[in-house]
Amino acid sequence: MPKTNGEITTIEHDDKEYKKNSSDIKINNNTSGNYNNDNNNTNKENNSNRNKSAVVTSALPYANGEIHIGHIASTYLPADIFTRFCRLTGRDIYHVCASDDFGTPVLIRAEKENKIPAEYVDLWNKRDYDDFKSFGISFDFFYKTSSKENIEFVQYVFKRLYENGYIYEQDVIQFYCQYDDKYLPDRYVIGKCPNCAAENQYSDLCEKCGKVPDQILDPKCAICNRPPIKKSSKHYFFKLSNFSLQLKEWLNSNTNLQQDIRNYVINWIDDGLEDWDITRDLSWGVPIPMPDAKGKVFYGWFDNHLCYISTLNTYIQKQKESSGIDDGRKFWNDSEIYHFIGKDIVYHHYLFLPAMRMGIDEEYKLPDYIPTRGHLMLQNQKISKSRNWYISLRDFTSAFNPDYLRFYIASIAPYSQTDVNFDWDVFSEKINNELIANIGNFINRALYFVQKTFDSKVPQPSSEYDLEDRNSIAEIEKIADEVGDLIYRNEFDRALKRILKFATHFNQYFQKKQPWSNEATANTTLFIAVNAVRSLAIMLEPFIPISSEKVWSQLGISNNGNSDAGGNSSNTRNDNTNNNSSSNSTDRNNINNSNSNNNNSIHKQQWKSASEIKIPSGHILGRVEPIFRKIQPKDIELQKTKLGRQEQEQQQ
Ligand SMILES: [Zn+2]
Ligand SMILES: [Zn+2]
Repeated sequence: MPKTNGEITTIEHDDKEYKKNSSDIKINNNTSGNYNNDNNNTNKENNSNRNKSAVVTSALPYANGEIHIGHIASTYLPADIFTRFCRLTGRDIYHVCASDDFGTPVLIRAEKENKIPAEYVDLWNKRDYDDFKSFGISFDFFYKTSSKENIEFVQYVFKRLYENGYIYEQDVIQFYCQYDDKYLPDRYVIGKCPNCAAENQYSDLCEKCGKVPDQILDPKCAICNRPPIKKSSKHYFFKLSNFSLQLKEWLNSNTNLQQDIRNYVINWIDDGLEDWDITRDLSWGVPIPMPDAKGKVFYGWFDNHLCYISTLNTYIQKQKESSGIDDGRKFWNDSEIYHFIGKDIVYHHYLFLPAMRMGIDEEYKLPDYIPTRGHLMLQNQKISKSRNWYISLRDFTSAFNPDYLRFYIASIAPYSQTDVNFDWDVFSEKINNELIANIGNFINRALYFVQKTFDSKVPQPSSEYDLEDRNSIAEIEKIADEVGDLIYRNEFDRALKRILKFATHFNQYFQKKQPWSNEATANTTLFIAVNAVRSLAIMLEPFIPISSEKVWSQLGISNNGNSDAGGNSSNTRNDNTNNNSSSNSTDRNNINNSNSNNNNSIHKQQWKSASEIKIPSGHILGRVEPIFRKIQPKDIELQKTKLGRQEQEQQQ
């Protein structure tokens, strides 16, 4: 953390701190063994918590740019897979998120576009939510840090910290523009990069070389281009250093946390924690509720993670009529708390966030889990918006089935901070060879055979099962627990591999039994195969919800009530109850809810029933057609040419 001892350096800024911290992170590429040991040790304990209610949060997206595949890979997809799985297990679980509306980068972008900040962030809040929705991210509630509820909550937390003696005031020297009569945060100071000599770079980030300048040369005010002066300003500090011992105790005792992260966070603490400057001299932010703090707001990282709590509280209030739960704090404290993040914000989530909760006497409990994942590289290069080396979610979903990205990323991203690489060729191979040629092939083959040969009616099996039939039934019977254990442990890549193995088994079963030439056994083969399709659909719901809904409808379960194949009376949560939310709080119903009143919906099944033979003989299938479309080489070539294009054009 940057020193804040009053010497002539400017105040730390979001991005500056961010960069420094992420470069501190040592990645151990050989960690999978550790995780397994860790998880096995805690498995027994975990099992007893699996039915507990849960709150899942995803790191908040900045309200100043579009969501891209990197965000999805580290945070939103893992959180969504986990949440969808828990819903299927019948767990009472809420996934909340919000746009991160405050901060200097947001303010600068708004000014550039001649919009007032509140209007600007509203546009991004809506846009982000729509993008998430099109990708099947099923938030229960997506709110905003600039909400009235969050502002009140942040001010409340500050007052409590102040009363408890964890806040003090100190003068800080920073850049000040006399002409604009403004203190200038880092983003408002531009100059020459000391590393690469590029002109007109931000003092907290050189966009040319990507480095964080220690001290920008020839500083100028970004608004009027005049040189600023240095001036003293009174700031509020949070006594982070007071919590060193308590943080260490917590980190050591919480065995759910990933071990290697735990270790290096403890190393940071051992190096000595600095107190934390939580003030910015800005107009856009949560106002500091002190009589002499006019024109000062909280630093974005003071308010944004508090929004996890204020958003949950707001949602509980909106839901209370239908859910019968009206005490957000009690719900939070009775639940398991999961904060899904990318590794670049480890510092904030393993230190600031718990320390602040400790500072208010753990009125809201500390997290049980902080699932933390590495960065996504794109074609082996760092994702960069300024170099146009990224794929926005919107671009992706306009070209491909969103489930393809979900499937691909889930299959390559381990539960660790190891960076993973998005490669267009590998993407195409995985989709064509694994999702389509394995999973899709089996589903289509089995269902199409029943449609063609048995007039869409699931046949009656014989009373005698042979060895292969019995092995296949056994495969169905164990699959829900095996895959479920892996998902519960956040090992989605391994869970997906297990599902692929299941599909391989059934492709082989079908091939061996040759129902097209074995009339005597075809009935049994197809009866078992159709039930295996049903198991697949349920297990794939967390991963590829849009496609599994299609499989479900082809199975004929979602639109006819004659089967006991659907139905899940115990899981009656109603996601459709926040329709009366104000325009600002947005209607956060997700893709799940198109069928939310229909208990036959794939999204309302019981996970465990993936291991049951539920489709009876005589059941009529829906209309069968291919679920997936193969990716063609030309589709991939087109995508590759888009990357970095803008930069080349500019250089010419
Ligand atoms: Zn530079
Ligand atoms: Zn100026």
